[in-house]
Amino acid sequence: MSEDSRCCGIGTCIINEEGQCWCGQRWDGEKMCFPRAIRVAVVGAGIAGLSCATRLQAQGLQVEVFEKSRGASGRMSTRQSEEASADHGAQYFTARDPLFMKAVSAWMQADVAAVWQPQLKVYEASQWRDSHAQEKRYVGKPAMNTPGKYLAQNVSAQYGQTIDKIAIKNRQWHLHSAESGDLEQAFDWLVLALPAPQALALLETSGEPLDTSTAQFKMKGCWTVMAEFTENLHLPFDAAFVNGEIISWMARNNSKPGRSGAESWTIHATPEWSQEWIELEKEEAAKRILGCAQKIGLVAQPAKISVHRWRYASGSLDPMPLFKLDEKLKWGLCGDWLNGGRVEGAWLSGHHLATEIQTLERALVKR
Ligand SMILES: Cc1cc2nc3c(=O)[nH]c(=O)nc-3n(C[C@H](O)[C@H](O)[C@H](O)COP(=O)(O)OP(=O)(O)OC[C@H]3O[C@@H](n4cnc5c(N)ncnc54)[C@H](O)[C@@H]3O)c2cc1C
Repeated sequence: MSEDSRCCGIGTCIINEEGQCWCGQRWDGEKMCFPRAIRVAVVGAGIAGLSCATRLQAQGLQVEVFEKSRGASGRMSTRQSEEASADHGAQYFTARDPLFMKAVSAWMQADVAAVWQPQLKVYEASQWRDSHAQEKRYVGKPAMNTPGKYLAQNVSAQYGQTIDKIAIKNRQWHLHSAESGDLEQAFDWLVLALPAPQALALLETSGEPLDTSTAQFKMKGCWTVMAEFTENLHLPFDAAFVNGEIISWMARNNSKPGRSGAESWTIHATPEWSQEWIELEKEEAAKRILGCAQKIGLVAQPAKISVHRWRYASGSLDPMPLFKLDEKLKWGLCGDWLNGGRVEGAWLSGHHLATEIQTLERALVKR
């Protein structure tokens, strides 16, 4: 590892007094830079896209993020009402890889993440038991989307831009968005940090013979119901894994650190049931899910109910490629579905794709 504090992060920097590194990058007073700005478009501001974008930027590349929603964080999401908040995508995340543990520890220091210690039960075959799982569970603080927002602060991002067409001309990527038409900037690299079906649909618009085989991968949906109460329910658990029913999980949002406001519960249907019934009307899906929750003790009456249909919630390739990259045409894919289907895998996928892009660019500069 380079001990020079100006090191770009790859760990092999040897920088002379003029700020020139052996690899061709140079110190601009703040960070190591390539002699010519290398521009990267990252489509998708979920945790994979943000991890990729922040690392690329720290390594001296010029990054622009495009996101169709109004804010960052993707499936690490929180719905806010006047009285309460509910995490309706990812419920918590674990950290096993040292790189991700370091990132989570930085988030905790910045007070945008915290350990969640719910009273956790398991429901199976009409019986309740305590869960003895010991693993540390982390959540965004005060909402699941806070770590994403924190990362997004430091990158240039355009929200409300649904990228619906990509094209490569003279070795430069050009983007078209549903909201703004042809975008002015052109990019050396294109990163799609999207769920597989959305990445595939976008890749196909290029008209190029891109290798889209990996992105053919199908993901499963998830029906989510959020129930907001005016009074505490005093149930004997904060969260529960449910086996053998149409729902798989329920959690009391206000048991998570930093949440204030009224009691609110998030209930997830299983991936299998959700996928089978993905085209149901929202009201009907909610009725069936709440019927199941009531059977096992969560009576959502009176409660304010909202419903969310995730079309692409979960699933991961096996074996896991970590990321995909086309060195010749300079495009890459990252996201949870390439690395285990969870928050940690998504973050690592973006991080490692960024490292690979920088390594390739450094090799080009050296030639
Ligand atoms: C219901 C549910 C429960 C979950 N529970 C857990 C859990 O408990 N623990 C855990 O670790 N993980 C959980 N996950 C998975 C976790 O949320 C994901 O692994 C992770 O958030 C994926 O991040 P990502 O960046 O790969 O993708 P995403 O978060 O999906 O990010 C993709 C982004 O791309 C944007 N986008 C899509 N198309 C376009 C376009 N054409 N143009 C511009 N932008 C576009 C989207 O708006 C989104 O912001 C859960 C997911 C769901 C849905």
